[in-house]
Formats: sequence, C-alpha cells, structure tokens
Amino acid sequence: MTAHYTIHGSVAVITLDNPPVNGLGMATRRAITDGVQQAQDDSAIQSIVITGAGKAFSGGADIKEFGTDKAMVEPNLRSVILAVENSSKPVIAAIHSVCMGGGLELALGCHYRIAAPGCSVAMPEVKLGLLPGAGGTQRLPRALGVEPALNMIVSGEVVKSEMLAMLPGQKLFDKISESADSLAAESLAFAAEVADARPLPLVRNLPCKHPQGDGYFQFARNMVKGMAKNFPAPLKCVDAVQAATQKSFDEGVAVEREHFLNLMLSPESRALRHLFMAERAASRIADVPADTPLRDIKSVAVIGAGTMGGGIAMNFLNAGLPVKLLEMKQDALDRGIATIQKNYQAQVKKGKLKQDKYEQRMNLLSTTLNYDELKDADMVIEAVFEEMGVKEKVFKELDRVMKPGAILASNTSTLDVNAIANFTHRPQDVVGLHFFSPANVMKLLEVVRADKTAKDVMATVMVVAKKIRKTAVVSGVCDGFIGNRMIDQYGRQAGFLLDEGCTPAQVDKAIEKFGFAMGPFRMSDLAGNDISWAIRKRRHQEMPEMKYSKTADLLCEQGRFGQKTGAGWYDYVAGKRDAIPNADVVAMVVANRQSQGITPRKISDEEIVQRLVFSLVNEAAHILEEGIAAKASDIDIAYVFGYGFPPQRGGPMLYADQVGLFNVVQAMKRFALNPLDDTDFWQPAPLLLKLVAEGKTFN
Ligand code: NAD
Repeated sequence: MTAHYTIHGSVAVITLDNPPVNGLGMATRRAITDGVQQAQDDSAIQSIVITGAGKAFSGGADIKEFGTDKAMVEPNLRSVILAVENSSKPVIAAIHSVCMGGGLELALGCHYRIAAPGCSVAMPEVKLGLLPGAGGTQRLPRALGVEPALNMIVSGEVVKSEMLAMLPGQKLFDKISESADSLAAESLAFAAEVADARPLPLVRNLPCKHPQGDGYFQFARNMVKGMAKNFPAPLKCVDAVQAATQKSFDEGVAVEREHFLNLMLSPESRALRHLFMAERAASRIADVPADTPLRDIKSVAVIGAGTMGGGIAMNFLNAGLPVKLLEMKQDALDRGIATIQKNYQAQVKKGKLKQDKYEQRMNLLSTTLNYDELKDADMVIEAVFEEMGVKEKVFKELDRVMKPGAILASNTSTLDVNAIANFTHRPQDVVGLHFFSPANVMKLLEVVRADKTAKDVMATVMVVAKKIRKTAVVSGVCDGFIGNRMIDQYGRQAGFLLDEGCTPAQVDKAIEKFGFAMGPFRMSDLAGNDISWAIRKRRHQEMPEMKYSKTADLLCEQGRFGQKTGAGWYDYVAGKRDAIPNADVVAMVVANRQSQGITPRKISDEEIVQRLVFSLVNEAAHILEEGIAAKASDIDIAYVFGYGFPPQRGGPMLYADQVGLFNVVQAMKRFALNPLDDTDFWQPAPLLLKLVAEGKTFN
C-alpha cells in the first residue's frame, strides 16, 4: 500500500505512504483518486485531509518512473489534481517536512493548505531541465504572487514554509500550524471548520497579475538568460509564468504543457535526468550491501599541510569534525594554517560564512609534528609529496601509531594504492581518497578501492563523502584511476592537434564552444604544466614507446608552468585569469612542427571536438572492460563533477550514446588512419565493438 485511507469522525484522511519521500508513483496516484472518490460516496464524510507519512508530505514525482511511460499512465498527476479540485467536499493538504515539485502541485490543487513550520518547499523541476508540468507554473504565481513564484520556479531552490507564509497577500498557506507535531490535530480541526464552506476556493480562480506587466517579464528574461547559459528550461519557466498573467488558466496550462513536453525531449533535460540518476547510482557499490555496518568516524587526521592537505582538512572542519594536521616542520604547518585562515576569511568577507562559524571551524583544527598524537583519530588522510618512498615512510608510521580499525587513506593521484596498502600490516583498512584541487571546492572524490580494502571501509568512506558534500565515484587501482587516466589521452590528442596544424587557442575555443568550462591548454595552465610534465617524464621511462607531442615539454623547458608563473600556453596578468595568446608560444609550436617535417593542415572544430571527446570515450571503454569503473554512468559523474565536462551533454558516455556508438567507432577508425596520431590508440576498444555489434549503448 502506498497510501492509507482512514476516518476520523467526519473527516477522511488520505496518508501518502511511499517511502522515502512519498513519490507520486502510479500506485500512490491511484490511491489518492480512490480515496477522494470513497469520501464522495460516504455521506458521513464532510471533508478530506491529504497528508504524508514519515519524512515528507511529498517529494514529487517518483524517480523510479523517470523517463518511463508510467508517469503518464492515468490517473496522471494532472488528473489527480483535477479530481481533488472537483471534490464536492473540501480537501485540505496537511503539509510537513518536504513539499516539492509534484507534491507542491498536488497541494496547490487542494482547496486549503496547512503547513507545519520548517517545511522545505520547492519546485525543483528546472534542475532536471524541465518545468513544473502539472499546473505548477499557473497555480503557484496565483497563490504566491508572480515574483516569488517565478523565483522559485526558475531557481528550483528550497524555501521554508514560514518564510513563504510571511509574503504579503500570499494564498499558498491558509495556516501555519503551531508545530510539526500539532499539524495532524490542527488539520482535522480545520477540516471540520471548513466542512460547510461553499463555494470551495480554487487557486485556479485567483487573479494573476504583475504591476509592471510585460515589462517585468522582459527584465526577468534578461536576468535568466545570463544565468541559464546552455539550458533552455529557465527561459521556458519565464514564458509559462508570463502566460499565467496573460491568458486564462486553461490556456496557460496548455502553454505549460507544450513547454514541458518539448523540454522532456530536449537533450539537455535528458542529460540532467541521467546525471541525477547516475549520481544516486554512483553511491551504491554492487558487492557492498546497503546494510554493511559502518565504522564510526568522529575525528580525522591529515598528513601534509600543502595544497591538498589544507583543502582536505577544510572539508572536514566544514562538516563539524575535528581535524589534526601533521607536518614535518613547524613552518610548513604555519603556512598551511595561514592558507586555511585566508580561505575562510575570504568567505567571511564575501558574506558566505559567519564570523562565529569561522571561529568554530578553526577551533576544531589542531596541529602536530608528532605521529604519536594521531593515534586516536578514526580516519587519517595522507597528502604528502607524490613519491612512493615518502608514502612508504608515512604509511609505516601510520601503521605503527593508529588505533586498530582506523581508516588509512591516501590522496595519491597516480601511485599504486595496493603497494601503499602493503606498506602496512592492515591493508584491509587502506583506501585511496583522491580529492581534486582545490579540495575544499571541487565536488568530485574518487574512492580508490585496493585489492584488499574491506567492504566496511568502502561503505564508510562513501558515507563520509556524503557528509563532506562530495560526489564519490569508485575506481579500481590503475595509473591515473578513472579521471586522470582518461584525461591523459585527451591531453595527448590536444598535443597531436598542435603538431598537425592547430594553435592552443583554436583547440581551446572549439572544445569550449562544445561546452567544456575550459579547453585543455587553459586547464593545464591552471593546474600547472610542470605537474603533467613530471607525470610524462615518469611515463616516458615506464612506456618509452608511448607517443606524445613534444610541444608541452618544450614549453616547460622555457619555465612556462602556467598561471602561477604568469606564463604558460598563454600569458596572464597578475590577479586576472584571462588567457592572452602568446606569439612566441605559437612560433614554438610552428618550429616544432617544421623540425618534424610536418606540413600543417586546416583542422575543423568538429574534428577537434571529436578527437578530444572520443579519446575520453575509447579510454573509458577500456576502463569499463577492465572493471576499473563499475558503470558507464560513474564515468559520466566523474567527468561532469571533476573535469568540467558540459553537464548539458550528460558526460562522455551519454554523449557517445547520443551520437550513436556506431558513428563513434567509424570516427575512431578514421582517426586510426592518421599517421601523425597514435594509430594504435584509435583501435576501438573491444567493448565498443561489442556494444555496436549488439546494438546496445553504454547506459
Ligand atoms: P604539496 O607539495 O603542496 O604538499 C605536500 C605537503 O606534504 C608539504 O607541505 C610537505 O611539507 C608535506 N610532507 C611531505 N612529506 C611529509 C611527511 N613525511 N610527513 C608529513 N608531511 C610531509 O603537494 P600537494 O599538491 O598538496 O599534493 C599532495 C598529494 O596530493 C600528492 O600525493 C598529490 O599527488 C596529490 N594530489 C594533488 C593534487 C593537486 O592538484 N595538487 C590533486 C590531487 C591529488
């Protein structure tokens, strides 16, 4: 049963009960219409209350029905709302905890609404590239006023019930209950009070005007256009709400419907819905059951107070966990602490962090030069130099001092986590936690599962990741893990493109037009060209046959390490991030080309984009095949959250699916004929060929 029908005197109560958030799936929708009908047929019933069991009134559509036809099966949500509106007996929504999307649209169809204080209210559809599709764009402006309603619909942000109740003239809530606990009793009393009220009030009959008329919408459209970037939904939200002010209710609903159906079919919404599901799926590990007992993580130690250690520490301080930071020397500790303070103070200055919160966080931070002082920490994260010898020393020390059961994590970006685990006598407690720079900002966390990592360690770090608001993706052990292993191929292609005829700016512009936040050369300037130089040097030793363009090495030999030196692939003015093309760098690219006897050719933006993106796809297919990533959707999450892949394209794997894997393979075969490229690399991964042969996709 996904809803219950109970009778309290003359009031029928329909309680949605579809955990976790009373999603309005088919069975729940049917239970609502059945309940409303049952109440019509019972002469002893005078009014009806709809409420939710557990943690929500309703979180809206049932995500299990996403993208399936089930959401459309009658009674669909619009029919349910009509049935509620047409009830001959008053229907009261008793709202608490969470009231979002379709849940809010259902409430808006009721004759009255009582909300508990502290309830989270939102129309989050825009975050999935949609707009409210069951009358929300027409009813919310009528109930709440045009401006606050448009803000909610365009942003998808959560607003607390008591804040909404304070808006002048609002008709969204007839009453705010004393407390969440008294909501049930108060709504029964309210239902008895309004039992005889006729005619029954309907939100659809309320007037809907903005004093500035269409002028306001012009202004709103300009604002929204800037923020919406590559997504069509926000502007359609403006159109739909404007229709509410210009047309009859039914005509407005028709406008909403048309926009909703078009958006549903848009690639942008498809990508966002894919990412929504993929993010949830990424947190589940197939062989680690959901009820795996967790280790208790109440305190954390971080080794190394450099670029990464400081940012990693901040994540835990932000989440209210005490952190002990260890360094080799006091001055390194002092520098690390100063950077953390500076970062927090910048947030305070911008009004993003309150002074007392800042102080609370700093009070949770302590420092030491002595490993013995770490012994009580529940988890330790190592972020020292990227050298195996240094990691060995650190992990042997940790093995000596840490209490049994503590989780020992390494933030290594390239080293073998199995080898690191084997420096200890407790490899089952060792895991990779690969944060991205800046570690206090970037959402992605690669959780590197070594051969012996215990299941409860995996389960625990996935929960810890959530606690520090990271999106975690599990990777197996390999050079570069999921993300950097793929980006290495992408970087190699960028180099070959220079050798064959492109300038850095041409490559960057093409891929930025595709939607990447930054092209490969701007990105490398930001990360530091010396970092990839060091990795290339190591790889040259390990894999001398691996082909690379020499230009990046030549650039580094000139000391052009990127933004931090004011010069990289581009020039930079101190304090600014604008990338200014440099004629000497272009001349260096040309000279290198000539020295190899290459005749440059004109390369189209399409080829640039395909070679960069499909290089990610081919490497990803190998990664999937080897079981380094468990699911294609995990790779999409890693790329959108960690590498600036355009979210409107849903990640490299969904993009490849949408282009069609057959077409992707054909392109790879074409690239494999280019002698200036790495022809071996472009042999399509066996998994790709298999999927094409079977007519399947990655997702
Ligand atoms: P960093 O040089 O900025 O900081 C390293 C810190 O570790 C230094 O402050 C150093 O004093 C300290 N240290 C060195 N040996 C130590 C020891 N034995 N005991 C205690 N402290 C010691 O380096 P970083 O960029 O923060 O990188 C740290 C780790 O994070 C590396 O493994 C790196 O691969 C990884 N990583 C870096 C990035 C990045 O973008 N910088 C991203 C992801 C992962």
